[in-house]
Amino acid sequence: MPEQKIPRIDGERLWHSLMEMAKIGATEKGGNCRLALTDLDRDGRNLFVQWCRDAGCSIKVDKMGNIFARRDGRNNDLPPVMTGSHLDTQPTGGRFDGVYGVLAGLEVIRSLNDLGYETEHPVEVSVWTNEEGSRFAPAMVASGVFAGAFDLEYGLSRADADGTTIGEELERIGYAGTEAVGGRDIHAFFEVHIEQGPILEIEGQTIGVVTDAQGLRWFDLTVFGLESHAGPTPMAERKDAMAGATRMADFIYKVAHDNAPLGCATIGSMSVFPNSRNVIPGRVDMTIDMRHPDLSTLDKMETSMRAGIDKVAGDIGLTTTLDRIFCYDPIQFDEGCIAAVRDAAEFCGFSKRDIVSGAGHDSCYISRVAPTSMIFVPCIDGISHNEIEDAKPEWISAGGNVLFHAILGKAGLVA
Ligand SMILES: [Zn+2]
Repeated sequence: MPEQKIPRIDGERLWHSLMEMAKIGATEKGGNCRLALTDLDRDGRNLFVQWCRDAGCSIKVDKMGNIFARRDGRNNDLPPVMTGSHLDTQPTGGRFDGVYGVLAGLEVIRSLNDLGYETEHPVEVSVWTNEEGSRFAPAMVASGVFAGAFDLEYGLSRADADGTTIGEELERIGYAGTEAVGGRDIHAFFEVHIEQGPILEIEGQTIGVVTDAQGLRWFDLTVFGLESHAGPTPMAERKDAMAGATRMADFIYKVAHDNAPLGCATIGSMSVFPNSRNVIPGRVDMTIDMRHPDLSTLDKMETSMRAGIDKVAGDIGLTTTLDRIFCYDPIQFDEGCIAAVRDAAEFCGFSKRDIVSGAGHDSCYISRVAPTSMIFVPCIDGISHNEIEDAKPEWISAGGNVLFHAILGKAGLVA
């Protein structure tokens, strides 16, 4: 089929919407800070809701503050085809992570309107509350409640560092909705997202057909030693929590390297007590993020890490606590939805490859209750969770077109 005959979204309009949304919570370095359920998050939500109303959608908000913008189909008894992502960002986040998946959904609806297309199934665009987990842990908590991974009570009671809960903030910003969370049929769910890694760009591929998502485990490790004077205490007599922590960290990285390229480990936060130049640390707290797309390998990585930590602690005479505070298992996305994405990319004539998601996404939870898959587009140098996060307009447009045709494939175009 000649290229001009293929119905397309308006890539320029999508780009413009992204840049408009990026003005809310814009940072000096060109990124975004729109933490979940702050005034800025409310402003972003309000803008999205206004745009959706302008596009003729009806809006529903559930008790976790998840927003659903709906364009009716011919048969509204059929379950919707849904797409969506999140509007919240990291404190030094970018303009695309999450918001792209939301506004690409809006662009699909605007394009359906422009083309005068009627679909058999309704089409909905969702905004999931607190995906990033930066202000409220855990990440993806609201799509998790939607999918039954957490109960509503748990979701609403998650608190930020100041003790303010999700429930309180939803009330305050006017997004404590009345709809039940989850428990309804979704015909298919798609999420388009920047890759957040370098593979597509390095290989010169435009579309990532996401087949799997890595499993993830978060741990809190505390190493206890004995505070003592940095001068008079001979090295051999010390119970130095920092000496243990660095060796444990080394070992954890080794476990990840031994399972590379798919295995990963990150120690992103470390606190030393009492944090004084001439006191041997009596305690070190660290966070560990461990990932692999194969469950049995992930199990082995954890077992190996635990043994390594115990060995170091035993050698130095330290004690430790290691708590697994959060995890989700690897995900295999739905074959039918993966095929819809692959077919859409082929139909539009974009280069593509299958890819595993290294990051967690709302789709990981939604896949428990609906046939789901994801579409990745490259981002510059693979960088995200950073104010310099960037993408080329043609990639953004390409992902929107694949989303459009994947949704059409599932929602059914009324002839
Ligand atoms: Zn995201």
